[in-house]
Amino acid sequence: MFLRHQTRPVNVGGVIIGGNNEVAIQSMCTTKTADVEATVAEILRLEEAGCQLVRVTVNNEEAAAAIKEIKQRIHIPLVADIHFNYKLALLAIENGIDKVRINPGNIGRRDKVEAVVKACKDKGIPIRIGVNAGSLESHLLEKYGYPTPDAMVESALYHIGILEELDFHDIIVSLKASDVPMAIEAYRKAAEVIPYPLHLGITESGTLFAGTVKSSAGIGALLSMGIGSTVRISLSADPVEEVKVARELLKTFGLISNAPTLISCPTCGRLDIDLFSIANEVEEYISKLKVPIKVSVLGCAVNGPGEAREADIGIAGARGEGLLFRYGQMIRKVPEADLVSELKKEIDAIVVHFEET
Ligand code: SF4
Repeated sequence: MFLRHQTRPVNVGGVIIGGNNEVAIQSMCTTKTADVEATVAEILRLEEAGCQLVRVTVNNEEAAAAIKEIKQRIHIPLVADIHFNYKLALLAIENGIDKVRINPGNIGRRDKVEAVVKACKDKGIPIRIGVNAGSLESHLLEKYGYPTPDAMVESALYHIGILEELDFHDIIVSLKASDVPMAIEAYRKAAEVIPYPLHLGITESGTLFAGTVKSSAGIGALLSMGIGSTVRISLSADPVEEVKVARELLKTFGLISNAPTLISCPTCGRLDIDLFSIANEVEEYISKLKVPIKVSVLGCAVNGPGEAREADIGIAGARGEGLLFRYGQMIRKVPEADLVSELKKEIDAIVVHFEET
């Protein structure tokens, strides 16, 4: 476990962000929020993948009105993404939203900011301040000339200042940029001066492949420094993929307690079984499990037993068959055709054991 930066804990609809809690995984719906059926269906898929908070855009009154029914049909906190329009924020709050993502400095007149803050206070709803390198305030662009990590931190402090002046402290902050080194530096500097939980993200990071690499590089660097209380991977892909990547990333740093791990070898000339298909099938099978089981799928017995020692269950391929290992000990030989089904049975038995203990 990496030493985590301490922050104030913030309650988002029952999920506590920051403090001593695990890093929470977020995603965002791609549907029109007013389309309740499509939005609920997408959120239920995200829940199944392990998403813990989900954001929807609230860009009109129909979207704000839909929040009430969406909330009744989902099981994770719902976050409203609002730009400028304080009336939509008030409607979303009235309809039961769990968190509002809005920058108070962009709302406009003081009385409008006060109305949103009062509504959030009354219902115990936190506000996420979302600084984005691509939309910094003009006074900061004038001061710094172009987006910089310091300008981003100053922007965050500006919005935080407005909320603190109104004695509001249930704050979460993000400082997103699509430039990875800039985002890392902005978050690193922010963690030194901001006591609130940081929501990590590399914005507009790209497609499933490129965006996964880019997000993992940026968010991974920050997680390794103990920075970040919640993450969102932004991909031009099905948002379920965002959750899968986030879980894998958190697992890499030992920051998630309920995720399975697959260990598989890259294969080489010693291989005598179709390892790639087996590994993909096993990965798919364990992907929805919510227990920290370790499964290894190795091409041969040369390194198999040693590597499998770290795993709860695993196979090592041989010619036309495989050796089944449990905690590094071979338990039996299985024909190649039955390898995956036998492995799945063993996985199921271990999952039952995890759930009972
Ligand atoms: Fe090659 Fe065997 Fe190592 Fe896989 S486990 S890379 S097949 S030596």
